[in-house]
This record gives sequence, C-alpha cells and structure tokens, in this order.
Amino acid sequence: MRLRAKTDPVTIAWARARGARIQVHCLRCCKMTVIGLDRFADHELIPDLTRHHTFRCTRCGSTNSETRPDYPEFGSGNLTWYGLTKAE
Ligand SMILES: [Zn+2]
Repeated sequence: MRLRAKTDPVTIAWARARGARIQVHCLRCCKMTVIGLDRFADHELIPDLTRHHTFRCTRCGSTNSETRPDYPEFGSGNLTWYGLTKAE
C-alpha cells in the first residue's frame, strides 16, 4: 500500500505528452466523466479548467464541477478525489 501525492500543476501539454485525459467530477451528484484534451490550449492547468470553461453535468445539470488529470498508467477510477492512489 502506498500513497502518492500529485502536487505539481498539470498542464494540458503535460497531459498530452503522457497520453492522459481529464476527469470532470460533478460536485453535486459525484458523476465522473473522462474527456479528451482537444478543446483546451497547451498552457492551461487542468485543476483550473473550471475557471475558464463550463462543464455541465449530464446527470443532474449542475455546472459546479472539478477537473483532475486521468492518468493512463493507473487507469480510470484508481485515484481518489484528491489525487492519491487508493490503498490496496
Ligand atoms: Zn451531477
């Protein structure tokens, strides 16, 4: 069991280079969607995307959301809300 903090700001360019995508979490109903990087610019920070883009939840309609990188090496859903790996 191991915890790994993800503290560095993650840019779109960094995510593109690693083949990562973006998880959008609805803060009202907790629905999570993984989206691609196509609509974003290289310099944008993934945790800051909700400041400049609006994501509408397809389940509850809320626009109150949070974005996080989706690391391909861990697979979708293996990270907790705060970017720590789940304890095994
Ligand atoms: Zn929702």
